[in-house]
Amino acid sequence: MISITLSWFVCLYLALFLTGILILWIGYEIIRKRHSKAIAQNRVFCRICGSRYTDTTTAELLHCPACGSLNERSTQEGF
Ligand SMILES: [Zn+2]
Repeated sequence: MISITLSWFVCLYLALFLTGILILWIGYEIIRKRHSKAIAQNRVFCRICGSRYTDTTTAELLHCPACGSLNERSTQEGF
């Protein structure tokens, strides 16, 4: 049997616990970035009337529901 002192046991336990949290954190951040990128691609900002709307179609030019003008899909994030 492997003999281990209490301090080594605590160090190993903490290292495994923190490694697990780090792996979960990285996975969560990857999923969150993919999700926010997908949402940002569906947001459209009308340059004529200034309204913001979402569109889930794949068309490049989108009609604004407020003024009817054509808008390009925005590539900016965070608005
Ligand atoms: Zn508009």
